[in-house]
Amino acid sequence: MKNKVNIAIIGGGIIGLYTAYELAKRGVENIAVYEKNYIGSGSTFRCGTGIRQQFGDEANIKMMKRSVEKWSTVGEEINFPPLKMAKTGYLFLLYSEKEVEQYKKNVALQNSLGVPSKIITPEEAQEIVPGLDISEVVAASWNPTDGKANPFLAVYGLSKALKKMGVEINEYTEVKEIKVKDGAVEGVKTEKGDVKADIVLNAANAWAKIFNEKLGVKIPIEPYKHQGIVTEPFKVGEIKPMVVSFKHGGAYLTQKPNGGIIGGIALKYGPTWDITPTYEFLREVAKNFSKIIPALKYITIIRQWGGYYAETPDHNATIGKINEIEGYYLSAGFSGHGFMLAPAAAEGMAELITKGSSSLPLDFYDPYRFERGELREHAIQMG
Ligand SMILES: Cc1cc2nc3c(=O)[nH]c(=O)nc-3n(C[C@H](O)[C@H](O)[C@H](O)COP(=O)(O)OP(=O)(O)OC[C@H]3O[C@@H](n4cnc5c(N)ncnc54)[C@H](O)[C@@H]3O)c2cc1C
Repeated sequence: MKNKVNIAIIGGGIIGLYTAYELAKRGVENIAVYEKNYIGSGSTFRCGTGIRQQFGDEANIKMMKRSVEKWSTVGEEINFPPLKMAKTGYLFLLYSEKEVEQYKKNVALQNSLGVPSKIITPEEAQEIVPGLDISEVVAASWNPTDGKANPFLAVYGLSKALKKMGVEINEYTEVKEIKVKDGAVEGVKTEKGDVKADIVLNAANAWAKIFNEKLGVKIPIEPYKHQGIVTEPFKVGEIKPMVVSFKHGGAYLTQKPNGGIIGGIALKYGPTWDITPTYEFLREVAKNFSKIIPALKYITIIRQWGGYYAETPDHNATIGKINEIEGYYLSAGFSGHGFMLAPAAAEGMAELITKGSSSLPLDFYDPYRFERGELREHAIQMG
């Protein structure tokens, strides 16, 4: 392990790794990533795989449009073709005129920004997912260019590319402290020794607040327990898109290539550090999933897990420079949509670090908006 680097990144999840990649791509040398466990072991390997541009505000739509472009090409770019976004769409089922009105507005905004979403009839929704119960569905919001990607392949592919680019990835290396002298970062203290660094990026997701608090930086990011499940294989290819129903406990579900259903519902606990799976979640998932697609009541759930959403009060991330400490940057608080946002968030952060500004709408994610009382519109959140 080097004892001096240019940029020290805390956290080997999708945000830390993707940002390291965007920095290395721009010619930044001497980057190191520190991960207290194994890479991906935080929220990234526990995510529901979903990638969507169907948000209700301009910044998230623009960021997600950019992310989808990048998710579509990153596999080829890093010479790891198995990493490929599957453009299988997101299908929001709408059960009331009020919901339809809101989604019409969202679709108009999405279309104005180049996202080809549209409102479709219940019958059209059933053509896309044949097993749907559409007896109470009024309409659906559908975007065929949304989809999903495999977080395991993303982490594996990126880490392989990073090693080739000379980035040091230190697993099982906990950062104990960010060292600061005269108002500027000096480096990090790890369990394996001290490392000098000009820049420190906090990409520690749920744990980001621990570093901020120690440094007296007040940015509201809290760990909440959310859970996911996977089932035994169902008819392969039957549920291609991510199907979402806010009426049914905020359920989201899709099918993996092997036929297993992956998804969850909007049942959260916290703030808490406890991510033990709960029976309440299991029962509610089973009940709500089988209302959306009745045949699912015959399918067995084979695994359930808990993980963190690092949530902010408006469910939007905090991406930016920390003013109190020279050289300290933060990219955390993705509130349940950090996997999908990672490519654009990483590009934005890499531009910010190397050029001092970004072409992407990073102002929206300004970490100081809470202090100023300028909360954003709540981002549409799954789970
Ligand atoms: C059930 C569930 C479903 C989800 N579904 C989706 C989805 O469909 N789509 C989507 O976009 N997002 C989804 N998410 C959210 C997504 O998983 C996260 O937003 C994303 O993984 C955040 O990435 P990250 O790199 O910031 O965090 P993490 O992957 O948590 O990485 C942070 C890393 O920092 C490390 N770390 C912490 N402290 C230290 C320290 N002191 N020293 C060194 N390392 C440290 C941790 O071990 C961890 O590996 C879901 C999350 C859950 C829990």
